[in-house]
Amino acid sequence: MRNYNLPPIPIEKLITYSNPNTIIKNITNNKSVANMVIHKEQLLTRISDFARKHHAVCYTDEQLQRLSDLLIALHTPKQVNILEKFHVMCEQIQYGVICPDCGALPMIYSGAKWNCAPCGATSKVAYLDALQDLCLLFGGEVSIRQIMQFLRLDGRYITYRLMKKAGFERLGDNKGSRYILKF
Ligand SMILES: [Zn+2]
Repeated sequence: MRNYNLPPIPIEKLITYSNPNTIIKNITNNKSVANMVIHKEQLLTRISDFARKHHAVCYTDEQLQRLSDLLIALHTPKQVNILEKFHVMCEQIQYGVICPDCGALPMIYSGAKWNCAPCGATSKVAYLDALQDLCLLFGGEVSIRQIMQFLRLDGRYITYRLMKKAGFERLGDNKGSRYILKF
């Protein structure tokens, strides 16, 4: 606040999980932690509690708007290297498209579809899940070679075609092509 010429205000801390399936365990049984870490359903109630606790008006509408713009502009998402975080070696990753019906790996691309040998299932879109995994593991910009390897495809041409079909943005041409994976 000081750095941005905004008057000091009381500050409350709250950690909110937006995914309802997240299980929050308070292993230390510390009450202040239980009050601070909540699911999104509790958020509005907690904001009302804060409003009851702090009556004094500290900011003008204009200052509030400035603070809101600043918070959005200064927010930086945390970049996590999943391989490092979980101590996974590249060699330990199982490459290939997973069968959505039986979970077997890898599905083989032939006849314009992905085919599962163990259960006989076919899919036109099963590779999109694999691309999402690739994005989580290696980041949102990957080379055509990484995609070919990960999907276990035999040629660049078919890889280009599948990526085009899925509508991913391509940077550069030929062997040096990279793709932006956005989901
Ligand atoms: Zn299968």
